[in-house]
Order: sequence, then structure tokens, then C-alpha cells
Amino acid sequence: MREWFRANAAELPWRPADLDALRNPYAVWISETMLQQTQVSTVKDYFIRWMERFPDVETLARADETEVFRYWQGLGYYSRARNILKTAKIVCEENLLDPLRSASRMTLNENARVGCKMPETRKELEALPGIGAYTAGAILSLAYHKREAILDGNLVRIFSRLYELDFLPTDKKATIDCHASLQEARNDMQISTARDLDHALEKRSSHGTKCNDVSASEIYWGYAREVADSPRAYMHNEALMELGRTVCKTKSPLCETCPLHKECRAFLDGRTAEFPPTKKRTEKSWHGTVLVIESADEKILAVNGGQKFLDGQLALPHFESVRGATVGISAQAEEYINADDVESVNDCGTFRHNITVHKIECNVLHVRLATTAKAAQLPKTKANSDKPSAFEWIKKAKAFETFANSFSLKALKKVF
Ligand code: SF4
Repeated sequence: MREWFRANAAELPWRPADLDALRNPYAVWISETMLQQTQVSTVKDYFIRWMERFPDVETLARADETEVFRYWQGLGYYSRARNILKTAKIVCEENLLDPLRSASRMTLNENARVGCKMPETRKELEALPGIGAYTAGAILSLAYHKREAILDGNLVRIFSRLYELDFLPTDKKATIDCHASLQEARNDMQISTARDLDHALEKRSSHGTKCNDVSASEIYWGYAREVADSPRAYMHNEALMELGRTVCKTKSPLCETCPLHKECRAFLDGRTAEFPPTKKRTEKSWHGTVLVIESADEKILAVNGGQKFLDGQLALPHFESVRGATVGISAQAEEYINADDVESVNDCGTFRHNITVHKIECNVLHVRLATTAKAAQLPKTKANSDKPSAFEWIKKAKAFETFANSFSLKALKKVF
């Protein structure tokens, strides 16, 4: 795999020419987070722009959320961007919030983080918002060259095919036949006591778990840990990710050129199309209304939180509604604005948009107020919502650059 990787590693903005070099943990964190759910070809430009604007964790920690979202706009799954910012602030907290206190702590506690340094242990990393087992492993392995396992979609696909695993790590229970393992173990070894049996199964199990402890996730992580059990874990991990991306593709894997084809069970059995099993994605249709509420002094009402979508970022007010509902101020719209302030309501048509599994269709109402933004009566929080919401008036002239999500921008385009 190492030979294959050295010969085939693509040039990527986050990958140094020297594949054995230690890497910048911040860059690994940002690139790996961007790469979740997103193609490498899309991420390249986003990563370059991001690193130009936020070259290190300290610069990022000082940024505001609206700007961070703007640099994320188009990558989707905005919770990733929000968590990145939260984590940057946590990592830098001691230095940014109180430099004097931080300095004094440094004399008392040599473990205090200096210069917004990313943590170097899995426990600390996984405690940060948005950093899960995969991202923590990637940072520790690629940046610090620790023997840490990583398991992303590429490795899952490869393991599933190499070992013909007909389940996914997210499945609650693995369907590995423990009784068959047991029988094999009995045939191969002299087992007389329960302790012998446990010992035998542990030995047999390449992932090191006992049969009755096994979970789908643990089986995959077990294989991942085997890959990482080497001083060159960083290269094995990255080589497998690259193999999954370029050779062991979801559709039509290029098995003839794969360095693992001689030991890949799915390939040898002619069953690559069956692995990994497909996960049924249940799409949900959602029809709603988006309000573009414009005050008499040309300001647009934005909401943060308390809505169906785009929690945690500025978005246009929206709520579920039936198709073809009459134009006017409905009770739901009155959760955002007082009907007495309304001068006119225009139906500006519909747009379609997808957010995660939701297939959204929205009609857009342009609501003009007779009052200025200051005089308009805004609710303190939206009724019928357990999520806190905040309201903000933004200048109409700046609306297109202030909203950092395609959902709100599409609605604005229907009006202006
Ligand atoms: S032989 Fe084919 S299916 Fe098996 S790991 Fe290689 S590319 Fe994937």
C-alpha cells in the first residue's frame, strides 16, 4: 500500500509533497471536516480560500459566525462550520479571552495550551464540538504521526469488500456469525473451559473483540486499528483513503489495478457490487413558506434559531404550509410579524432546495411593512418552538452578502 500510495498520491492543497512530513493539525482538521459528505474536487477551492482568510486557529477564533458561514457557503451541513468556530474559540479560549490569566496559568500549569495549539490526545480532541472519532484519528495520525486508527467512508467500503462484511458500522448489530466462529475455533483449538474459549475467540478475532461483545462499529474499528498498528500508520491510513477515493470506488471499482485485489474476498468471489450493503436513504418531502419581510426603511427580517431548518445561523423566516395556501398573513406568519404592521403581501413563486434528506419546496411571500424596522413589533421568541430564536433586521442592500445559506438566497432571488 505504501508503494502504491507513493506512486499514486494526488496533489492536494492540504497534502505536502513530502508524504512523510508531519502536518499542520489545523489544516488537517479543516480539510477533513470539509471532506465529510463532500467531494475532494469541490473542497479544494474552499480549502484554499479558507486558509487564505483563516490561516490558523487563532485567526479563526477571532472571526464572527456570519463571516465563517460565508466561507462555508455551498458546502452544506452548516453545523460543521458552526462547530469549527466553536472549537477554535475553545482551543484559543485561554489566550484570547484573558491573556494575563493565561500567562499566569502557564507558570502554574505547564499543560496550559499556548498559542491556540490543537490538542494531541484523542480524548481531548473528541471532547471538542464537531470532532468525532474519525476526525480525531485523522488529526492524530496525519498531523502528529501517532498510531491512531481512522475510519471514514472509504475505509468502510474497502473493509466491507476485503472481508465481505454485509453490514455497516452504523448498523446496531453485526450479523457476523458468532456460532460459526465458535465452531471454527472449536475445530482448530483444544478448548476445555470458558476461559479457553474466550481466549480462543479473542485470538481468532482479527479485531480483538470477544464474540458476545461484538458490535458492527467495533468490527470496523478493529480492522482500522490493525491498519494503524504500525509506525507508518499515517501513511497506511491515508493510502487507504486514497485507494477508496480513486480505485475502490462506490460504483465500478477498478479492481484490476488495485494493490489489494489478490486478497480481496469480494473481488475473488465476483461480488464487489454487493459490498458494502446500501443504506436506504429515506427522503422527506417538506412544503413550506418563506417570508421576506421588508420594513418601510428597507430592512429585511432575519431569524437565528427556532425554525425548521438552518438552526444556528441567520435565515429568512420559514414555516411548514400546504401547497396552494391562500396568500395572506397566516397565523404562522404572525409568529414573526404583527399583522397590523403589514402593508402588502405578494406571492413571488416557489423554489426547490435540498437540505440533508429533506426535499424542500417553498413558496416565497414578500411582506412589506408600513412601519420602520425600529417601530415594528417583533415577538421575543417564536411560539410553539422549544428552540430559542433571535431576530435581526439587516439592510436590504446587504441582504445577499449577509445570508450565508443557499436556502435564504434562493428565496431572496425570487423577490429582488
Ligand atoms: S480489489 Fe476491488 S473491491 Fe477489493 S479493495 Fe481493491 S478495488 Fe476494492
